[in-house]
Amino acid sequence: MAFKDSASYTDLSQGRIRHIDFRIGVNFATRTLEIEATYRLQEPVRGSLYLDSYKIDLTHARVNGQDLECEFDASDDVLGERLHLKGFEGESTFTLTFRTSPEARALQWLNASQTAGGNYPFLFSQCQAIHARSVFPCQDTPSVRFTYSAEVTVPQGLVAAMAAEKTGVEEGSGQTIFRFQMPQPIPSYLFALGVGNLAFRELGPRTGVYAEPETVDAAAWEFAENETKIVEAEKLLGPYLWGRYDLLILPPSFPYGGMENPRLTFLTPTAILGTRGHTSLITHELAHAWTGNLVTNATWQDFWLNEGWTTYAETRITEVLEGKEVSDLHAVYDEKRVLAVIERIGVDSPHTALKLPAGEKDADSFTTIIPYYKGCFFLQECEYAVGRERFDAFIQKYMARFQFQSLTTEAFLDFLKAELPEVFEKVNVHKWIYEPGMPEERQKHTSRLYDEVKQVLDGYEQGIKPTREQVQGWHRYQILSFLQGLPRKLPVEDLAYLEDILELEKRNDAALFHLFYATAIASGYESILPRVEQFMGTIGRMLYVLPVVRALTEAEWSRGYVRPLFERVRDRHHQITVNAIEGFLKKAGL
Ligand SMILES: [Zn+2]
Repeated sequence: MAFKDSASYTDLSQGRIRHIDFRIGVNFATRTLEIEATYRLQEPVRGSLYLDSYKIDLTHARVNGQDLECEFDASDDVLGERLHLKGFEGESTFTLTFRTSPEARALQWLNASQTAGGNYPFLFSQCQAIHARSVFPCQDTPSVRFTYSAEVTVPQGLVAAMAAEKTGVEEGSGQTIFRFQMPQPIPSYLFALGVGNLAFRELGPRTGVYAEPETVDAAAWEFAENETKIVEAEKLLGPYLWGRYDLLILPPSFPYGGMENPRLTFLTPTAILGTRGHTSLITHELAHAWTGNLVTNATWQDFWLNEGWTTYAETRITEVLEGKEVSDLHAVYDEKRVLAVIERIGVDSPHTALKLPAGEKDADSFTTIIPYYKGCFFLQECEYAVGRERFDAFIQKYMARFQFQSLTTEAFLDFLKAELPEVFEKVNVHKWIYEPGMPEERQKHTSRLYDEVKQVLDGYEQGIKPTREQVQGWHRYQILSFLQGLPRKLPVEDLAYLEDILELEKRNDAALFHLFYATAIASGYESILPRVEQFMGTIGRMLYVLPVVRALTEAEWSRGYVRPLFERVRDRHHQITVNAIEGFLKKAGL
């Protein structure tokens, strides 16, 4: 059967990209990258080659020094334009010269005022899921992997960082050239570039952190334990095959928690709490070095292979580093969240199945937390079915067998069946993978720390307010569970009281505030609006911003405020976030 990725124009019968040499000029004035890219193909190509592209301004296509005939011969709002290169006669390299658009979806260009330091501009890329095509024409499907080298020229004073090995720096007149190579083959969505006023701190023999000078020390303290995490991850998943593991702390508008770009995780600054309380996020991004980056979903329909596996690995590593009590607490908290999302999307919706429906183009629009937690719970069922020891041996074998490859759900299930046939006798695999909703027959999670919270929540429902002493010393996930478990609406004076005894202000944790604000809005706490606007203007992480927007659109009193508020903070946000918020507003008729 011919392979088809509905989110890409790629036709694998034509050929595959194997390697790209990039020369990239970064132009902050025009908000464009000027690029010359030489592509090497796996085998000589005859006839046509289709590449994905998005608003690419192509000046030249050349093969053997001759112009190559080409045209953009198909276009689509989501997929972008199909670049049709024609007339190959058995060549296996070609060169494209082009400029990216200021509207390139993968690139965010920040003014100096949008950074922590305020003096230098900043650029970062976010290619997942289908945005690499806005940086360079490519076979923008996770089923194609290539190596690359890059020479990146930036204005003097700025630093370029890539999800690749740095091989050199050269000072020129008024500019600096950074050289990189990526010897391990990656799918296009893991191409990543960041440029800004970046400082670097060493954290361990193979770990470090890049950030603006204003935040680099706080970041270095927060993530000092990264080396320990790698050691634990290797015990579970096998050797770390990417060389270094560094972090790049991005400005607040980064729409995600983290992006697992190989060798260089891009990270939200909301993870820096001053308590090392949110480093489970690093555990997750680090685990992707195996589950996702090493063994990759072949299409976005198979996204759970990346995220379910990574979430499973995260829970295992957390169990070792923070103890079973804490990983159980995470599990109960996450189970409640994912069940709520399934409920909202609809228990019969195909978008709640692990294998996502065929034919979807917009891979960003259907990514929810379901592949993460339902995927993780499925893998836990597999573990329970055969015991931890055998499952751990399976994990190591799976990683070794499919390293640097991309695979479909079906290829994974074939491997699972061959290695652990009993799983199929004890677990309803088909139901977990292909049917919507959350299977009832599963091991339910329990947690002593969660039960403590539940007791306080039950008391509150009966009119007994919690005391400061009761909540003192709670784990961050206990506070999250408490805020998540509150009734949808409560008296405004109770909200103020709870905020005080939970010491939210002192904790300065956007995860806590997004839950608190959502409840406050639903409860008609009108005077909180200026604080909500402040939150919306400083926090870019979609996981926190979108629930607040949803609450604003749902409460009668706040509906009229949402659109103007959003317009005031719009340019603080990434295009991906802006699109998601616009989607909400449109759906709400605003
Ligand atoms: Zn992930």
